[in-house]
Amino acid sequence: MRKLWKDEKGSVLLLTAVAMVVIFGFAALAIDGGNLYHQHMKLQDIADACALAGAQELAKGSEEDEATKVAKKYADNNGIIFEKIDDLNNSDSKANIKLGDDTGTIKISLIDDNKVKVELNVNTKNFFAGVLGFTSSDVAVASVAKYGVAQQQIEGVFPLAFIPDDKVEYKTGKEIELLFKEADKGNYGYLDFNHKKPYLSDQKFEETLEEGLDGPLSIGQDIYTQTGNEIKKLVEAFAAKGRLLAPKSYKVKNQHPVCKCTYNDYDEDCPRVITIVMVDKDVKFNGKTEVQIKGFVKIFVEGLESGDKPSDKDTLNVKYLETVDLGSPLGEGDDDGMIKAVRLVE
Ligand SMILES: [Zn+2]
Repeated sequence: MRKLWKDEKGSVLLLTAVAMVVIFGFAALAIDGGNLYHQHMKLQDIADACALAGAQELAKGSEEDEATKVAKKYADNNGIIFEKIDDLNNSDSKANIKLGDDTGTIKISLIDDNKVKVELNVNTKNFFAGVLGFTSSDVAVASVAKYGVAQQQIEGVFPLAFIPDDKVEYKTGKEIELLFKEADKGNYGYLDFNHKKPYLSDQKFEETLEEGLDGPLSIGQDIYTQTGNEIKKLVEAFAAKGRLLAPKSYKVKNQHPVCKCTYNDYDEDCPRVITIVMVDKDVKFNGKTEVQIKGFVKIFVEGLESGDKPSDKDTLNVKYLETVDLGSPLGEGDDDGMIKAVRLVE
């Protein structure tokens, strides 16, 4: 009996020891893990700030050296101490740093003339895990900021008007009546991007129906309606690009096979997905009418509702996909005289 008691006591002690190691291990994980997580967040914030500052400097048209220096200055402002003060002020891409008690490196590189990459690597001391042999951990973060044209402009828009209805909630897949069934003082829902000089591009109306406008449009811009029912031109243009299967009665010259996508499963570059112009819901049409661009809407072309022969009453069936958000992505290309913006890309 006594022996058994002793054994039980021994196993209790052993269990306690094992439990303590496990608990200690978890405590180490929780505290050091939390600390590392915090450190990671902090470094990421610093790297983001530095990259954005560098990209902002590039956007101003400064030399690459200047962008590097500005990025470093931001690191300095955010608690990064450069081991050599010279490293802070020169444009060398890599430098040794300190952050609190920790040491590490910063590396700043420029990519494609318009991106600034900041890499921070800091060796952080562990509180608890050190006892178990893990004295420190490397925390590495990277951030890339890019500058470009703030995309309040959009290219490739089709000359079709969408007039939103206040009473309707537009969700992906919502059927919308794109073209007016009946002429509204000569208007059928087409737009003329090139009515007045300076022309937005050299494209003819038919070409804008086929390709979309080859120049930029922006919200707030005034454009004109194209009067008359252009349904034959629309069917011709859409059939040629595989956006629409033309009814036989239209006798189109060039029917490209229609893409098999659906409105809820389509490729990025699907020809049936097009962007059109949202115009003021209160617009009063009267012949060729000036209308203001209120936004841009992405739609999926479903098909044509048609009778036995081409008719004014034929309507294009489309589904609403989304209202284009021009605020977030940055455009590429020529940026002279346009508003520039910077954003994080990684
Ligand atoms: Zn497709």
